[in-house]
Amino acid sequence: MKERLQALKEEALVKVEEASTLEALQQVRVSYLGKKGPITEVLRGMGKLSAEERPVIGDLANKVREAIASQLDEKKAALEAKALDEKLLTEKIDVTLPGRPVQVGGPHLLTSIVEEIEDLFIGMGFEVREGPEVETDYYNFEALNLPKDHPARDMQDSFYITEELLLRTHTSPVQARTMLEYKGNKPVKMICPGKVYRRDTDDATHSHQFTQVEGLYVDKDVRMSDLKGVLNQFAKQFFGEEREIRLRPSFFPFTEPSVEMDISCKVCHGEGCSVCKGTGWIEILGGGMVHPDVLELAGYDPKIYSGFAFGMGPERIAMLKYGVDDIRHFYTNDVRFLKQYHKA
Ligand SMILES: [Zn+2]
Repeated sequence: MKERLQALKEEALVKVEEASTLEALQQVRVSYLGKKGPITEVLRGMGKLSAEERPVIGDLANKVREAIASQLDEKKAALEAKALDEKLLTEKIDVTLPGRPVQVGGPHLLTSIVEEIEDLFIGMGFEVREGPEVETDYYNFEALNLPKDHPARDMQDSFYITEELLLRTHTSPVQARTMLEYKGNKPVKMICPGKVYRRDTDDATHSHQFTQVEGLYVDKDVRMSDLKGVLNQFAKQFFGEEREIRLRPSFFPFTEPSVEMDISCKVCHGEGCSVCKGTGWIEILGGGMVHPDVLELAGYDPKIYSGFAFGMGPERIAMLKYGVDDIRHFYTNDVRFLKQYHKA
């Protein structure tokens, strides 16, 4: 029986060595170590052996089984490693394929325009100020010479949060806040860009939300000619050296006198065409000398101080500068529109 087991062991080890696939190896395992295999058979026949022989044969049978099992495991690991190597060789990753490009955004056209305006005025010594978009009735209207019953309030119907709180209808409250902060004894030279809101029906030229940039210069001896000089500088830098400006009388409750500024038409140079509706001029912004009452409300003595203020809409500026035909393009976030104005 010893010889039989020894022969089985050698036979099995040769079969293991010969197995070239995992399937063939599994066959060897089943046929030698399975329940119907020859080693199980030997162990079953142990009953016929003598008491002395039994432990010796049992021990040998177990050793033979272990030897075959360990050889099987070793071969299995080798075959698996080989299979993996082959897989790695055949399944190559093509690292030369182009990757997916990263989408890079750019500033919104309005952001670019506002920053351009800021740069220009910073260059002329103005500081940039910001204020809250949810504003009190006092700063939005009353401090600007618009008491509760003033008819000009109708032009600026707003979104009210409470009786006294509203979404600001212009950036002018930032002017009032700055003047009050400066306590009536030092010059104010500022611009305030920001979002403003009015209850309006949206169409090609109206939006319930839009952007304003207002400017204010309060000091001793500020004159209308200073306003004209600053606005002329702005128009020429923004729209081109060849553009002329003109000031027309107008009305705003917080300035006196008030003006509107036009620039000469780029297309016809003042001759009159369809772009300027035959006038030769295009309206750009409004301004004027700060009303003495507004100065006084903000703590500045109108006998000592004077000032000018102006306000413009960056949407309108962008529409004129780039030929945008609908204000809603600024807010509908169509990337096909926005992409055209990304600076490289
Ligand atoms: Zn024209």
